[in-house]
Amino acid sequence: VLILVGLLSAVLLLVNLQMGSLLARAQLEETANHLQIQALLAANNLQDPLSGYRHEFEEHEDDDDDHGDHHDDSEDDERQRAVSHLPDWATNYAEETKAQVTITDGKGRALLGDRSPLTTQELQLARNGQPFHRWTAHSIFATAPVLRKEHLLGVVRLAIPRGEASTRSRRLSLSLALASVLALALALAAAVVLSRRLVQPLKRLEQNAVRASRGEWDQAVSVEGEDELASLSQAFATMLTELQDTFERQRRFVSNASHELRTPLTRLKLRTEALVDGGIDDEKIAKKFVREIDGQVDRLTRLTNSLLDLARLEEKPELQTTAEPVSVLKEVAASLSRTDRRMIVKLPDSLPPVRLSPESLELLMVNLLENAFKHTSPGGEVRLTAERTDSGMTVVVEDNGEGISPEHLPHLFERFYRADHARTDGGTGLGLALVKASVLSAGGTVRVESQKGQGSRFVVDLPGC
Ligand code: ADP
Repeated sequence: VLILVGLLSAVLLLVNLQMGSLLARAQLEETANHLQIQALLAANNLQDPLSGYRHEFEEHEDDDDDHGDHHDDSEDDERQRAVSHLPDWATNYAEETKAQVTITDGKGRALLGDRSPLTTQELQLARNGQPFHRWTAHSIFATAPVLRKEHLLGVVRLAIPRGEASTRSRRLSLSLALASVLALALALAAAVVLSRRLVQPLKRLEQNAVRASRGEWDQAVSVEGEDELASLSQAFATMLTELQDTFERQRRFVSNASHELRTPLTRLKLRTEALVDGGIDDEKIAKKFVREIDGQVDRLTRLTNSLLDLARLEEKPELQTTAEPVSVLKEVAASLSRTDRRMIVKLPDSLPPVRLSPESLELLMVNLLENAFKHTSPGGEVRLTAERTDSGMTVVVEDNGEGISPEHLPHLFERFYRADHARTDGGTGLGLALVKASVLSAGGTVRVESQKGQGSRFVVDLPGC
């Protein structure tokens, strides 16, 4: 605001100075022109044969001729006397025009009024039959020739003080300055209002950022209007929400991971303590506890491996590819087939290569198929199909097992999410998270369709490469 007002003041000052001097000049010029018209009218009046004054000039001229070129006061007096009617005319005219009237003869010598002679320029122009105006520091002068045909009989000179013209131009300059000050005040007010409008939302954003940095996420970022600041606030609000979600996910992840690790560790501790406290002496109990310990270690290993796989898949996209996905799908299906549940496999002869390492593709399929078997009762059916698509391939794993309640579906691919927490089927809740991470790292998508009691269907789309 200060810079704006400073610049504006400087510009207005310059404009005012420039305009002030232009106005002063224009005023002088106008007044002088006006005076010149008056002088011309006066000269016209004097040279008009009907007015009777011309005769006085002519008379004086004759007089002048008689006396030759001698100039002294007595000659001047004579000239004065010769023009007997002119003084009355001049007095009237001076009253009319408020100007000082001087009348000279054809040689520029004063007959009436101001004694100062005409300037050479004035006289020269008068001889050429031209009027003239000029100004000095204090007065404005206008001259007009009194002619008889081409011959210069005399000159009328009007003079007025410069004061009036100066006062008028000063008055105009003052109004201009006042208008400028008013414009400046308005600009200042507008700048203050604008800067407030700009600064206040920025301050709010700053406060929100400071609060967010202190961990106070649940604060509303106000978004008003449709300008750039509003979209900045909107972007900031979106960023805050996303950060909040990320932190919340991370917090849940750490808490879930600790919980998942703590359970087998507690069981391990209980069994080792029981063994130390004498259980080791009873061979039957010792064997049972060691088997349990082995199971918990397996679980911990599975959990750790899954976490490592997840971290690897989420960290960077897969660089390796599987040139022949069909063989990987066939191998996985063969290794998981069970006698108590039917497995139908429908695969084409070949599928396009995909941007997933054979190990990751295997991990993905194992997780989907193991889940399908796990949630299907004996006698049920698991179906694996795959087909080529325009962009790559689609793999579908279906079962006619227990299905999933609608409320679980949106969370199924989250880490550690289990639809039925009460079940102790050895699951870690990381299987589908791993499926999603590997599909995403290959640039694909995964979705689930399911109805409670009727089975589930997982559809994976993978782009070719
Ligand atoms: P888990 O290790 O518990 O199997 P997953 O991430 O693989 O974890 O699966 C998450 C949850 O999704 C499971 O706890 C299970 O309740 C549900 N689920 C996954 N696949 C199926 C399926 N084919 N049928 C029914 N429920 C399933």
